[in-house]
Amino acid sequence: MKTDLKSLTREELSAYISNLGEPAFRSKQIFRWLHRGVSDFAEMTDLPKTLIEKLREDASITTLRIFKCFSSQIDDTVKYLFELEDGNIIETVAMKYHHGYSLCISSQVGCRMGCTFCQSTKNGLVRSLTAGEILDQILKVQADLGIRITNIVMMGIGEPLDNLDEVIRFLKNVNDPEGINIGYRHISLSTCGLIPGIMRLAELELPITLSISLHATSDEVRSGIMPVNRKYHLEQLIRACKDYQARTGRRISFEYSVISGVNDRYEDAKRLAELLKGILCHVNLIPVNPIETGGYRPPSRKNVIAFQNCLIKLGLNATIRRTLGSDISASCGQLRHQNSEKGGAAL
Ligand code: SAH
Repeated sequence: MKTDLKSLTREELSAYISNLGEPAFRSKQIFRWLHRGVSDFAEMTDLPKTLIEKLREDASITTLRIFKCFSSQIDDTVKYLFELEDGNIIETVAMKYHHGYSLCISSQVGCRMGCTFCQSTKNGLVRSLTAGEILDQILKVQADLGIRITNIVMMGIGEPLDNLDEVIRFLKNVNDPEGINIGYRHISLSTCGLIPGIMRLAELELPITLSISLHATSDEVRSGIMPVNRKYHLEQLIRACKDYQARTGRRISFEYSVISGVNDRYEDAKRLAELLKGILCHVNLIPVNPIETGGYRPPSRKNVIAFQNCLIKLGLNATIRRTLGSDISASCGQLRHQNSEKGGAAL
Protein backbone atom coordinates (compact mmCIF):
# COMPACT_ATOMS: atom_id res chain seq x y z
CA MET A 1 0.00 0.00 0.00
CA LYS A 2 1.42 3.37 -0.99
CA THR A 3 1.14 6.26 1.46
CA ASP A 4 -1.27 8.96 0.28
CA LEU A 5 0.63 12.17 1.00
CA LYS A 6 -2.42 14.43 0.63
CA SER A 7 -4.02 12.72 3.62
CA LEU A 8 -1.09 13.45 5.95
CA THR A 9 -0.95 16.52 8.19
CA ARG A 10 2.15 18.69 7.99
CA GLU A 11 3.68 16.95 11.05
CA GLU A 12 2.92 13.50 9.63
CA LEU A 13 4.41 14.44 6.27
CA SER A 14 7.50 15.76 7.95
CA ALA A 15 7.95 12.48 9.86
CA TYR A 16 7.42 10.55 6.63
CA ILE A 17 10.03 12.59 4.74
CA SER A 18 12.57 12.34 7.53
CA ASN A 19 12.06 8.54 7.51
CA LEU A 20 13.09 8.60 3.87
CA GLY A 21 16.33 10.21 5.04
CA GLU A 22 15.52 13.56 3.42
CA PRO A 23 16.11 17.02 4.93
CA ALA A 24 13.19 18.73 6.66
CA PHE A 25 12.76 21.53 4.10
CA ARG A 26 11.73 18.97 1.48
CA SER A 27 8.58 18.22 3.41
CA LYS A 28 7.60 21.89 3.38
CA GLN A 29 8.13 22.03 -0.39
CA ILE A 30 6.06 18.89 -0.95
CA PHE A 31 3.26 20.07 1.36
CA ARG A 32 2.96 23.29 -0.65
CA TRP A 33 2.80 21.47 -3.98
CA LEU A 34 0.20 19.01 -2.73
CA HIS A 35 -2.02 21.77 -1.43
CA ARG A 36 -1.73 23.77 -4.61
CA GLY A 37 -3.34 20.82 -6.36
CA VAL A 38 -0.39 19.07 -8.00
CA SER A 39 -1.25 15.44 -8.71
CA ASP A 40 2.01 14.11 -10.13
CA PHE A 41 5.37 14.11 -8.34
CA ALA A 42 7.06 15.11 -11.61
CA GLU A 43 5.36 18.51 -11.36
CA MET A 44 7.21 19.25 -8.11
CA THR A 45 9.93 21.01 -10.03
CA ASP A 46 12.13 22.00 -7.11
CA LEU A 47 12.67 18.40 -5.96
CA PRO A 48 15.69 16.36 -7.08
CA LYS A 49 14.97 13.55 -9.55
CA THR A 50 16.14 10.91 -7.08
CA LEU A 51 13.53 12.03 -4.52
CA ILE A 52 10.80 12.11 -7.16
CA GLU A 53 11.67 8.50 -8.03
CA LYS A 54 11.64 7.49 -4.39
CA LEU A 55 8.23 9.12 -3.88
CA ARG A 56 6.80 7.48 -6.96
CA GLU A 57 7.72 4.08 -5.60
CA ASP A 58 6.51 4.59 -2.08
CA ALA A 59 3.78 7.25 -2.14
CA SER A 60 0.70 8.42 -4.01
CA ILE A 61 -1.42 11.57 -4.34
CA THR A 62 -5.20 11.11 -4.12
CA THR A 63 -6.88 12.74 -7.08
CA LEU A 64 -10.57 13.12 -7.76
CA ARG A 65 -11.93 13.20 -11.27
CA ILE A 66 -14.83 15.40 -12.30
CA PHE A 67 -17.42 12.85 -13.39
CA LYS A 68 -20.22 15.32 -14.09
CA CYS A 69 -20.81 18.96 -13.40
CA PHE A 70 -24.11 20.87 -13.38
CA SER A 71 -24.49 24.65 -13.37
CA SER A 72 -27.73 26.18 -12.16
CA GLN A 73 -29.52 28.48 -14.58
CA ILE A 74 -31.21 30.39 -11.77
CA ASP A 75 -28.27 31.14 -9.48
CA ASP A 76 -24.51 30.59 -9.48
CA THR A 77 -24.65 27.18 -7.83
CA VAL A 78 -22.46 24.52 -9.41
CA LYS A 79 -22.81 20.90 -8.44
CA TYR A 80 -20.06 18.35 -9.00
CA LEU A 81 -20.13 14.59 -9.04
CA PHE A 82 -16.58 13.43 -8.37
CA GLU A 83 -15.29 9.98 -9.09
CA LEU A 84 -12.87 8.58 -6.53
CA GLU A 85 -9.97 6.38 -7.54
CA ASP A 86 -11.96 3.23 -6.70
CA GLY A 87 -14.90 4.31 -8.90
CA ASN A 88 -17.17 5.53 -6.09
CA ILE A 89 -19.06 8.77 -6.63
CA ILE A 90 -19.49 11.70 -4.23
CA GLU A 91 -21.17 15.11 -4.47
CA THR A 92 -19.81 18.59 -3.85
CA VAL A 93 -21.74 21.85 -4.26
CA ALA A 94 -20.25 25.31 -4.82
CA MET A 95 -22.53 28.21 -3.84
CA LYS A 96 -21.87 31.86 -4.52
CA TYR A 97 -22.71 34.33 -1.76
CA HIS A 98 -22.05 38.05 -1.61
CA HIS A 99 -19.00 37.39 0.58
CA GLY A 100 -17.45 34.73 -1.65
CA TYR A 101 -17.77 31.06 -2.49
CA SER A 102 -18.95 28.45 -0.07
CA LEU A 103 -18.34 24.78 -0.72
CA CYS A 104 -20.53 22.00 0.64
CA ILE A 105 -18.34 18.90 0.84
CA SER A 106 -18.91 15.18 1.45
CA SER A 107 -17.16 13.19 4.16
CA GLN A 108 -18.28 9.65 3.29
CA VAL A 109 -19.59 7.59 0.38
CA GLY A 110 -23.15 7.05 1.62
CA CYS A 111 -24.05 7.19 5.30
CA ARG A 112 -25.09 4.73 7.99
CA MET A 113 -27.10 7.08 10.20
CA GLY A 114 -30.45 6.12 8.67
CA CYS A 115 -32.35 9.45 8.97
CA THR A 116 -35.69 8.65 7.34
CA PHE A 117 -35.97 11.90 5.35
CA CYS A 118 -32.45 11.81 3.89
CA GLN A 119 -31.52 10.43 0.47
CA SER A 120 -27.82 9.93 1.23
CA THR A 121 -28.39 7.19 3.75
CA LYS A 122 -30.82 5.04 1.75
CA ASN A 123 -28.18 2.58 0.54
CA GLY A 124 -26.11 2.69 3.71
CA LEU A 125 -22.42 3.46 4.06
CA VAL A 126 -20.02 2.30 1.36
CA ARG A 127 -16.89 3.74 2.97
CA SER A 128 -15.46 6.82 4.62
CA LEU A 129 -13.38 9.32 2.68
CA THR A 130 -9.71 9.90 3.43
CA ALA A 131 -8.53 13.36 4.48
CA GLY A 132 -7.00 13.74 1.02
CA GLU A 133 -10.28 12.95 -0.72
CA ILE A 134 -12.13 15.46 1.46
CA LEU A 135 -9.52 18.12 0.72
CA ASP A 136 -9.28 17.42 -3.01
CA GLN A 137 -12.94 18.43 -3.45
CA ILE A 138 -11.85 21.98 -2.65
CA LEU A 139 -8.73 21.91 -4.82
CA LYS A 140 -10.60 20.56 -7.84
CA VAL A 141 -13.46 23.07 -7.59
CA GLN A 142 -11.04 25.98 -7.15
CA ALA A 143 -9.12 24.88 -10.24
CA ASP A 144 -12.24 24.22 -12.31
CA LEU A 145 -13.98 27.52 -11.53
CA GLY A 146 -10.79 29.57 -11.25
CA ILE A 147 -11.90 30.90 -7.86
CA ARG A 148 -10.87 30.77 -4.23
CA ILE A 149 -13.23 29.03 -1.84
CA THR A 150 -13.75 31.16 1.27
CA ASN A 151 -16.14 29.03 3.32
CA ILE A 152 -16.54 25.32 3.87
CA VAL A 153 -19.63 23.52 5.06
CA MET A 154 -19.34 19.83 5.91
CA MET A 155 -22.96 19.14 5.03
CA GLY A 156 -22.64 16.98 1.97
CA ILE A 157 -22.96 13.21 1.93
CA GLY A 158 -21.97 11.38 5.11
CA GLU A 159 -21.71 11.93 8.84
CA PRO A 160 -18.43 13.74 9.53
CA LEU A 161 -18.27 12.62 13.16
CA ASP A 162 -18.50 9.00 11.98
CA ASN A 163 -15.16 9.61 10.22
CA LEU A 164 -13.57 11.86 12.78
CA ASP A 165 -9.86 10.94 12.51
CA GLU A 166 -9.80 11.77 8.81
CA VAL A 167 -12.01 14.83 9.30
CA ILE A 168 -9.62 16.21 11.93
CA ARG A 169 -6.64 15.65 9.60
CA PHE A 170 -8.58 17.43 6.87
CA LEU A 171 -9.48 20.36 9.16
CA LYS A 172 -5.85 20.84 10.19
CA ASN A 173 -4.68 20.73 6.58
CA VAL A 174 -7.30 23.05 5.11
CA ASN A 175 -6.51 25.57 7.86
CA ASP A 176 -2.72 25.30 7.42
CA PRO A 177 -1.15 28.63 6.34
CA GLU A 178 1.07 26.70 3.91
CA GLY A 179 -2.00 24.97 2.47
CA ILE A 180 -5.42 26.25 1.36
CA ASN A 181 -5.50 28.38 4.52
CA ILE A 182 -9.20 28.70 5.30
CA GLY A 183 -9.81 30.02 8.81
CA TYR A 184 -11.60 27.71 11.25
CA ARG A 185 -14.26 30.38 11.70
CA HIS A 186 -15.14 29.94 8.03
CA ILE A 187 -15.77 26.23 8.43
CA SER A 188 -19.02 24.61 9.62
CA LEU A 189 -19.39 20.97 10.50
CA SER A 190 -22.86 19.44 10.62
CA THR A 191 -23.69 16.36 12.67
CA CYS A 192 -26.79 14.32 13.44
CA GLY A 193 -25.59 14.21 17.05
CA LEU A 194 -22.80 11.68 17.68
CA ILE A 195 -21.97 12.81 21.19
CA PRO A 196 -18.49 11.24 21.61
CA GLY A 197 -17.45 13.07 18.44
CA ILE A 198 -18.85 16.37 19.70
CA MET A 199 -16.88 15.92 22.95
CA ARG A 200 -13.69 15.12 21.05
CA LEU A 201 -14.12 18.20 18.89
CA ALA A 202 -14.72 20.27 22.03
CA GLU A 203 -11.46 19.03 23.53
CA LEU A 204 -9.56 20.12 20.43
CA GLU A 205 -11.04 23.61 20.84
CA LEU A 206 -10.97 24.29 17.10
CA PRO A 207 -13.09 27.41 16.59
CA ILE A 208 -15.20 25.92 13.80
CA THR A 209 -18.99 26.34 13.78
CA LEU A 210 -20.81 23.27 14.99
CA SER A 211 -24.16 22.63 13.33
CA ILE A 212 -26.52 20.19 14.97
CA SER A 213 -29.20 18.53 12.85
CA LEU A 214 -31.95 18.68 15.45
CA HIS A 215 -35.19 18.37 13.44
CA ALA A 216 -37.39 17.47 16.40
CA THR A 217 -38.12 18.59 19.93
CA SER A 218 -39.15 15.34 21.63
CA ASP A 219 -37.33 12.02 21.90
CA GLU A 220 -40.37 10.27 20.51
CA VAL A 221 -40.45 12.22 17.25
CA ARG A 222 -36.67 12.50 16.93
CA SER A 223 -36.07 8.77 17.44
CA GLY A 224 -38.75 8.11 14.81
CA ILE A 225 -36.97 10.13 12.12
CA MET A 226 -33.34 9.93 13.33
CA PRO A 227 -32.24 6.51 14.66
CA VAL A 228 -29.15 8.11 16.25
CA ASN A 229 -31.49 9.59 18.86
CA ARG A 230 -32.25 6.11 20.23
CA LYS A 231 -28.64 5.98 21.40
CA TYR A 232 -28.01 9.64 22.22
CA HIS A 233 -31.17 11.25 23.59
CA LEU A 234 -32.10 14.89 23.22
CA GLU A 235 -31.21 15.77 26.79
CA GLN A 236 -27.69 14.32 26.40
CA LEU A 237 -27.31 16.07 23.06
CA ILE A 238 -28.27 19.45 24.47
CA ARG A 239 -25.90 18.91 27.40
CA ALA A 240 -23.07 18.10 24.95
CA CYS A 241 -23.87 21.31 23.03
CA LYS A 242 -23.65 23.33 26.24
CA ASP A 243 -20.29 21.75 27.08
CA TYR A 244 -19.08 22.43 23.56
CA GLN A 245 -20.09 26.05 23.87
CA ALA A 246 -18.51 26.42 27.31
CA ARG A 247 -15.19 25.14 25.91
CA THR A 248 -15.11 26.90 22.55
CA GLY A 249 -17.20 30.02 23.17
CA ARG A 250 -18.70 29.48 19.73
CA ARG A 251 -22.32 30.05 18.78
CA ILE A 252 -24.01 26.80 17.75
CA SER A 253 -26.19 26.41 14.72
CA PHE A 254 -29.25 24.14 14.90
CA GLU A 255 -30.63 22.77 11.65
CA TYR A 256 -34.36 22.12 11.69
CA SER A 257 -35.93 20.52 8.61
CA VAL A 258 -39.57 21.51 8.84
CA ILE A 259 -41.87 18.62 7.97
CA SER A 260 -45.60 19.13 7.63
CA GLY A 261 -47.53 17.49 10.46
CA VAL A 262 -44.38 16.06 12.07
CA ASN A 263 -42.51 18.92 13.72
CA ASP A 264 -44.18 22.17 12.68
CA ARG A 265 -46.78 22.72 15.41
CA TYR A 266 -46.90 25.49 17.96
CA GLU A 267 -45.92 22.99 20.71
CA ASP A 268 -42.75 22.22 18.71
CA ALA A 269 -41.81 25.89 18.58
CA LYS A 270 -42.42 26.18 22.33
CA ARG A 271 -40.40 23.05 23.14
CA LEU A 272 -37.61 24.16 20.83
CA ALA A 273 -37.32 27.50 22.64
CA GLU A 274 -37.31 25.63 25.97
CA LEU A 275 -34.62 23.17 24.82
CA LEU A 276 -32.29 25.84 23.49
CA LYS A 277 -32.70 28.21 26.44
CA GLY A 278 -29.30 29.39 27.64
CA ILE A 279 -27.43 28.36 24.47
CA LEU A 280 -26.02 31.08 22.27
CA CYS A 281 -27.38 29.78 18.98
CA HIS A 282 -28.99 30.22 15.65
CA VAL A 283 -31.83 28.10 14.22
CA ASN A 284 -31.76 27.36 10.51
CA LEU A 285 -35.16 26.26 9.19
CA ILE A 286 -35.04 24.07 6.08
CA PRO A 287 -38.40 23.19 4.51
CA VAL A 288 -37.94 19.43 4.02
CA ASN A 289 -36.96 18.39 0.55
CA PRO A 290 -39.22 15.47 -0.41
CA ILE A 291 -37.30 12.34 -1.42
CA GLU A 292 -38.62 9.52 -3.57
CA THR A 293 -39.10 6.92 -0.88
CA GLY A 294 -40.39 9.08 1.97
CA GLY A 295 -43.82 10.50 2.48
CA TYR A 296 -42.59 13.78 3.96
CA ARG A 297 -43.86 17.11 2.71
CA PRO A 298 -42.74 20.64 3.55
CA PRO A 299 -45.35 22.93 5.11
CA SER A 300 -46.61 25.75 2.91
CA ARG A 301 -44.29 28.79 2.68
CA LYS A 302 -46.81 30.70 4.79
CA ASN A 303 -46.66 28.09 7.54
CA VAL A 304 -42.85 27.97 7.53
CA ILE A 305 -42.81 31.74 7.99
CA ALA A 306 -45.40 31.44 10.77
CA PHE A 307 -43.21 28.82 12.49
CA GLN A 308 -40.19 31.12 12.15
CA ASN A 309 -42.12 34.05 13.61
CA CYS A 310 -43.18 31.90 16.53
CA LEU A 311 -39.56 31.04 17.28
CA ILE A 312 -38.54 34.68 17.02
CA LYS A 313 -41.31 35.70 19.44
CA LEU A 314 -40.08 33.02 21.82
CA GLY A 315 -36.65 34.67 21.77
CA LEU A 316 -34.78 32.48 19.26
CA ASN A 317 -32.65 33.68 16.42
CA ALA A 318 -34.25 31.84 13.47
CA THR A 319 -33.87 32.12 9.70
CA ILE A 320 -35.19 30.13 6.74
CA ARG A 321 -32.48 28.56 4.62
CA ARG A 322 -32.23 30.03 1.15
CA THR A 323 -32.73 27.36 -1.52
CA LEU A 324 -29.96 27.35 -4.09
CA GLY A 325 -29.60 25.23 -7.19
CA SER A 326 -33.10 23.75 -7.03
CA ASP A 327 -33.01 23.16 -10.80
CA ILE A 328 -29.93 20.92 -10.51
CA SER A 329 -31.01 18.76 -7.54
CA ALA A 330 -28.39 20.47 -5.43
CA SER A 331 -29.59 19.02 -2.17
CA CYS A 332 -28.87 16.11 0.03
CA GLY A 333 -27.54 13.27 -2.08
CA GLN A 334 -30.09 13.68 -4.84
CA LEU A 335 -27.68 13.70 -7.75
CA ARG A 336 -25.55 10.79 -6.64
CA HIS A 337 -28.76 8.85 -6.20
CA GLN A 338 -30.14 9.75 -9.63
CA ASN A 339 -26.88 8.72 -11.23
CA SER A 340 -26.82 5.38 -9.51
CA GLU A 341 -30.35 4.71 -10.79
CA LYS A 342 -29.25 5.37 -14.33
CA GLY A 343 -26.35 3.02 -13.84
CA GLY A 344 -24.05 5.89 -14.69
CA ALA A 345 -21.84 5.46 -11.68
CA ALA A 346 -20.28 2.65 -9.76
CA LEU A 347 -21.58 2.87 -6.24
N1 SAH B 1 -24.67 13.90 8.55
C1 SAH B 1 -24.63 15.30 8.79
C2 SAH B 1 -24.43 16.17 7.57
C3 SAH B 1 -25.11 15.81 6.28
S1 SAH B 1 -26.76 16.28 5.93
C4 SAH B 1 -25.85 15.74 9.55
O1 SAH B 1 -26.72 14.94 9.79
O2 SAH B 1 -25.90 16.90 9.96
C5 SAH B 1 -26.87 18.01 5.92
C6 SAH B 1 -28.21 18.51 6.44
O3 SAH B 1 -29.29 18.28 5.54
C7 SAH B 1 -28.60 17.86 7.76
O4 SAH B 1 -29.12 18.84 8.62
C8 SAH B 1 -29.68 16.90 7.29
O5 SAH B 1 -30.49 16.50 8.36
C9 SAH B 1 -30.39 17.72 6.24
N2 SAH B 1 -31.21 16.95 5.31
C10 SAH B 1 -31.00 15.72 4.83
N3 SAH B 1 -32.00 15.35 4.01
C11 SAH B 1 -32.87 16.37 3.95
C12 SAH B 1 -34.10 16.60 3.28
N4 SAH B 1 -34.62 15.69 2.48
N5 SAH B 1 -34.69 17.80 3.45
C13 SAH B 1 -34.16 18.74 4.24
N6 SAH B 1 -33.00 18.59 4.92
C14 SAH B 1 -32.36 17.41 4.78
